[in-house]
Amino acid sequence: MNYISTRKNNEKVSFKEAVINGLSNNGGLYFPEIIPQLPISFFDKIENLEDNEIAFKVLYPFIKGSLTAVQLKALITETINFPIPVVSVEKDIFALELFHGPTQAFKDVGARFMSRCLSHFYADKKEAITILVATSGDTGSAVANGFFNLPGVSVKILFPKGKVSPYQEYQMTGLGKNIKAIEVDGTFDDCQKLVKEAFNDNQLRKEISLSSANSINIARLLPQMLYYFFAYKQLKLKLKDKDLVVSVPSGNLGNLTAGLLAKNMGLPIKRFIAAHNANDSFNQYLKTGRLKKKASILTYSNAMDVGNPSNFERIEHLYKRVVNSVNQDVSSFSFNDDMTIEEIKNCYNQNNYMLDPHGAIGKLALNKGIKVNEVGVFIETAHPQKFSEIIIKAIPNYCSDDVDLKNLKKIKMNNSYSELKGLLSP
Ligand SMILES: *Cc1c(COP(=O)(O)O)cnc(C)c1O
Repeated sequence: MNYISTRKNNEKVSFKEAVINGLSNNGGLYFPEIIPQLPISFFDKIENLEDNEIAFKVLYPFIKGSLTAVQLKALITETINFPIPVVSVEKDIFALELFHGPTQAFKDVGARFMSRCLSHFYADKKEAITILVATSGDTGSAVANGFFNLPGVSVKILFPKGKVSPYQEYQMTGLGKNIKAIEVDGTFDDCQKLVKEAFNDNQLRKEISLSSANSINIARLLPQMLYYFFAYKQLKLKLKDKDLVVSVPSGNLGNLTAGLLAKNMGLPIKRFIAAHNANDSFNQYLKTGRLKKKASILTYSNAMDVGNPSNFERIEHLYKRVVNSVNQDVSSFSFNDDMTIEEIKNCYNQNNYMLDPHGAIGKLALNKGIKVNEVGVFIETAHPQKFSEIIIKAIPNYCSDDVDLKNLKKIKMNNSYSELKGLLSP
């Protein structure tokens, strides 16, 4: 499989090169040159396949030539070693729980897969690599956990000061060793911009071997397709003759892009709903055909506080820049913080199901968008415990484990590229 840039040029690279480079050399994102098609026979008996077999069939065409079948199988076993269940919440409404991994958010799947790919690809290189990543919360902890103690890898995580939950900060800064958490006096968009600047800094890239771990890295994106296949496998027999629609709480649109890729491979999901908080650039794009970059707004669902979603370029590329084609597969709604709290409260009282703020927005969008003859799944992207200070606003007697933030090791910096460069230079 070759990978091309979402911004047209002649570059064509292997999976290995795409993973190592992170970003293509004209600033675009890597995208598979063709979308492999899965045969109908695969879906006819998908419920009889093990998750590992499904994962291999889905991913192998994308990595062929860069990893062997045996290597990929080992990688899959290490990546999905926790349950990914579909749970019934209401009539015809299900939650796909992606929070059973080590850092309790869906990003564990992508981060674990990517970290192990990079270790493989760098095994024959002498120099150490630096993984540079910006996070609005969950990426940082998943990446920190995925790379922790991997030899030859140093990880630098930029997170916005005061804008991640205490639990997230604890998970990022608590590990130490090869993981450095850097608190930036700015927003998530600032952090993301600093990372892009470093990747575009040719002088720096001659001095250190830099790799990305954001959802812009194709190795994080591809394994995220798997949960949609696992969800379909679990629901297939319950669908009868109804159609499946999936609501995806969205920020940088990585999860949604992965779902759309899965659909474009042949997975029978009828359509997707992009669920947003007040940061609704993509929602506006679907209505107007233009994505207006906005500054991000701080909300209770902070992992979705993204004003300029990085994977938007991939969605545009996949649908050949025709907004009407995107509209055929995706609709979108946005909800504010008060609605989020209301939904957490109502869902708990009516269904005895505890939502996290991101899942709450996913469920709100699903309830609003679902049509007759559809079965709906919303993605529960994180465990409520990660956002206990928000849950308490909805469910006052909610109690979770306290985290001790006193002895965490973090580096503080201003929103300044020269400061970042200083921290990265050898
Ligand atoms: C990252 C994240 C999201 C947003 O996912 P994208 O792929 O960036 O759209 C939603 N919910 C949680 C809990 C997250 O960690």
